[in-house]
Amino acid sequence: MRIVLLGPPGAGKGTQAASIVKKYKIPHISTGDIFRKNIKEKTALGNKAKEYIDKGALVPDDIVVAIVEDRLTKEDCKHGFMLDGFPRTVAQAQALDEKLQNLSINLDKVVNIEVPKEELIERAVGRRICKECGKTYHIKFNPPAKEGVCGKCGEELYQRKDDIKETVSKRIEIYLQETKPLINYYEKQKILIKVNGEQDIDKVFSDIVNALGSKI
Ligand code: ADP
Ligand code: ADP
Ligand code: ZN
Repeated sequence: MRIVLLGPPGAGKGTQAASIVKKYKIPHISTGDIFRKNIKEKTALGNKAKEYIDKGALVPDDIVVAIVEDRLTKEDCKHGFMLDGFPRTVAQAQALDEKLQNLSINLDKVVNIEVPKEELIERAVGRRICKECGKTYHIKFNPPAKEGVCGKCGEELYQRKDDIKETVSKRIEIYLQETKPLINYYEKQKILIKVNGEQDIDKVFSDIVNALGSKI
């Protein structure tokens, strides 16, 4: 299964991706996670990406496209993959189509998670992430059993620097301008699935699985 997860910041892409990749046994490719790992390790890529991410701006297309193109040629992507947070611009979607064409493969489905704007801000601002294993929580909607502590590995949770109200609003504006046109782009290719993201996490997941079908 080759899937793209589309949706505004805070829609629940990362949360759903974690369950989807487990079920379909495919690698989870999150460009946001790749950048955060590089920022943590202070690599050249991390330093460059940080300039954009902290402001809520998009990292330039050429940088992101090169990373994804390289990642897709790895052995573990042979039988499928889940892209989360990529593509985010029409130029990125075109570059992805070209790359897939060169590899003689195509996307099976693009899942668009729909959530209204007011809800997105509350979700992103309340998001907390484990600094060790990356598991995502929400202070109100999906809290850990013990406040500030990861239920999976016991490490401390942190708040992303770009998850403050002003930066989240800016990211939503950029989503509307740059990423939303991809809905139409994939609708034209007849591979778009729309899922109501304003439901319980488990219900969103079962809707996605029903729409994707059992193909692995
Ligand atoms: P994205 O990757 O799209 O930015 P996340 O998966 O990180 O989104 O989710 C954003 C925040 O919203 C997280 O704190 C997460 O726990 C919470 N969340 C995810 N799905 C739901 C849902 N269906 N209902 C309520 N909160 C959710
Ligand atoms: P969210 O799902 O909450 O929007 P992500 O973790 O997907 O957050 O991305 C965090 C940040 O990383 C984005 O705001 C952007 O600056 C950068 N980023 C991630 N993916 C891309 C991409 N495909 N193109 C450009 N920038 C990206
Ligand atoms: Zn953890």
